[in-house]
Amino acid sequence: MADLLGKDSYSNSKNQSYLFTGFAFCANCGGLLYHRECKHKSGSNVYWQCINRNCRDKRNINERELVTAVHEILKSHMRTVLRSSKPLTADMVTENIENDIVIKGFNDKIKQINDTKAKLSAQIDNGTVTAIEYEEMNSFYDSKIVALNAQKESILCKKKKMINCIDEISARFEKYCELPELTREIIVTFIDKVVVESKSSINIFFRYADFFAQEESGGENSGS
Ligand SMILES: [Zn+2]
Repeated sequence: MADLLGKDSYSNSKNQSYLFTGFAFCANCGGLLYHRECKHKSGSNVYWQCINRNCRDKRNINERELVTAVHEILKSHMRTVLRSSKPLTADMVTENIENDIVIKGFNDKIKQINDTKAKLSAQIDNGTVTAIEYEEMNSFYDSKIVALNAQKESILCKKKKMINCIDEISARFEKYCELPELTREIIVTFIDKVVVESKSSINIFFRYADFFAQEESGGENSGS
């Protein structure tokens, strides 16, 4: 679960990381876009370019245009998430809903076994089973309950970690939402990858999108 929270895997390497290093991709070949600086008399322009020799339609974008587009899309995404994350609880996360069903399943099984154990005690009382049989079956049922509780515990633990993680993510959205400038730290924290088709067609894959997808689609009108 720790790897859910973003780390800059490029920042530790000896090479300098530019703003989009490792995050910008060519929509044509899927390869990375690279930082290229073109110097001319009046200054320099920075571009992000596909350098794949086999790519027949290399994508290429001016950094300023890429920054503006990514920042706008990211801010709108953050606002949506912050709006919808106010009442965010674990139950809104698909995996947690599934976990609740699994936990309920465990509880039902444990209840069934306890019912069987109660019947078993009645059977020893009326002499249907011997003391040895009772001991054997009772300890068999007990071991089953122990195993079920252990499985239940591991799911609850996972669920708790996920809730902590969501709180952490929401805190990060609040922290970065109003920042005026797009920084590498923000990109690393929230973005998986940016696929560049053209300056007007940029597709951003957000981290944690699954956590908030349900809420984000909540505002849409579906049906007749
Ligand atoms: Zn390419």
